[in-house]
Parts: sequence; C-alpha cells; structure tokens
Amino acid sequence: LKKEFNGLKVLNGIDYKIKQGEKIVVIGPSGSGKSTFLRCLNLLEEPTEGEVWFDGVNITDPQNDINKMRQKMGMVFQNFNLFPHFSVIKNITDAPIRVQKRNKEEVYKEARELLKKMGLEDKEDAYPCQLSGGQCQRVAIARALMRNPEIILFDEPTSALDPELTGEVLSVMSDLAKEGITMLIVTHEIGFAAQVADKIMFMDKGYVIDYGTPEDVIINPKNERIKTFLEKVK
Ligand code: ADP
Ligand code: MG
Repeated sequence: LKKEFNGLKVLNGIDYKIKQGEKIVVIGPSGSGKSTFLRCLNLLEEPTEGEVWFDGVNITDPQNDINKMRQKMGMVFQNFNLFPHFSVIKNITDAPIRVQKRNKEEVYKEARELLKKMGLEDKEDAYPCQLSGGQCQRVAIARALMRNPEIILFDEPTSALDPELTGEVLSVMSDLAKEGITMLIVTHEIGFAAQVADKIMFMDKGYVIDYGTPEDVIINPKNERIKTFLEKVK
C-alpha cells in the first residue's frame, strides 16, 4: 500500500496481513503515517498504489461496494466525532435506524446493552457537552460496536483525554480485546500496547520499521530508532 499527498510520500509500501481476532497496535512518531494507514484501510483516504483486501474482497476495486464493506469496520477517532446536538442514545442509534433501516426497538435494545457494557447506562439522555472526554469516547466506542463490526480501527483514542480519564477508556478496550474482535489501534500508551497487542507495528517516515510481538519490539527493543522513541514517550 502506498499513499502520496501531492508528491509527499506518506506511506512507502505497507504489506501486511491481519488475521481475524488479532490485536495490532501501531506506534511511531507523529507524522509517520499512522493515521493515513488506518484511513486507507477503510478508504477514508484513497491509496495511491496497492490494494486493501478485507474478508476476501478487494475493497480498493471500485466494482465492490465500499459502503457495504465499511459497515463491517468500526472506527474510533481521537476527537470522538459525536454529534453535539444529539443525545447519547441518538448518537448511537441514528445511523442504524436511518441509514441501515434497522428495526427501531431492536436497535434501542442493543444500544442500551452496549451503553451498559461501557458503564454509561445512566447517560442515554445526556448530550456530549454534559459528559467527560472519557465518557464521550466510551459513547463513540459503543457507536462503533453497533454495527457488530469485524474490525475496529482506533486512532489515538485516548490522546485528547486527561490522564485520569485515559484509564477508563483503555479498560473498556482491554475488555473488548478479550472478546475476540479484531482491533487495530494507534496509541502512544506503551504499557497498554504491551498488554493487549498480539503484534506491534512500529512506523517511521511511512515505513514499517519493525513488526513483531510486544516482547521483541518494545519490551526488549533492538532497533535504535525504537529505543529513542520509547524513551521519549515514557
Ligand atoms: P501520524 O498519524 O503518524 O501522525 P499522519 O498519517 O497523520 O501521521 O500524517 C503523515 C504525513 O502525511 C504528515 O506529513 C501529514 O502532514 C501528511 N498528511 C496527512 N494527511 C494529509 C492530507 N489530507 N493532505 C496532505 N498531507 C497530509
Ligand atoms: Mg495520527
């Protein structure tokens, strides 16, 4: 997979397979192409070269229905991307009811179960501005889970949060990781990465410079660039 923005080479050939159920944590310095990589996977960005295959389907082939494939992919962003004028429950249920035309009662039931799982059962009528950042991010995770996705892409889900709220979001993510859903997570939370990742992908300047178990890549790093990076984020 390659991606350029007006001649600026941002992804220089990323070639990996993610197996069903795997938890991959992507780390690396700012500007190394982590977000672009994630956004290429669900075609929020169009790759300049290469293909993305998902569930045996080449989703970069324009003949395939990307919206249908995207429904199997959840995405969680740094800044939550909730609708400020929608209540919590409406943020979660709007797309399934309006876009996917699913049964309203069934959608509400599922949404309430997910809110409970996220520890937010008493917040369904609140508006995003009435919630903490950690609560907003948990709403965003519930929204991503509503599609019953096969994979969730997380782009620095805790970077906008105060340190004391980071833990509650990482905790729901750890719980999710135990359920077998495939997760691709960009984060600077190295302790969390070491705990949940099956594989760590270390990116620098649009290249994957190391890929392996947390043990090999971050606990006993051999690569000098990775050592320097880890010292900075500690
Ligand atoms: P990271 O998430 O690792 O910080 P990004 O993927 O956001 O890195 O960005 C990688 C590089 O691509 C940066 O130099 C950034 O400025 C550039 N970039 C990202 N998105 C765009 C865009 N839409 N247009 C032009 N340049 C972009
Ligand atoms: Mg980024």
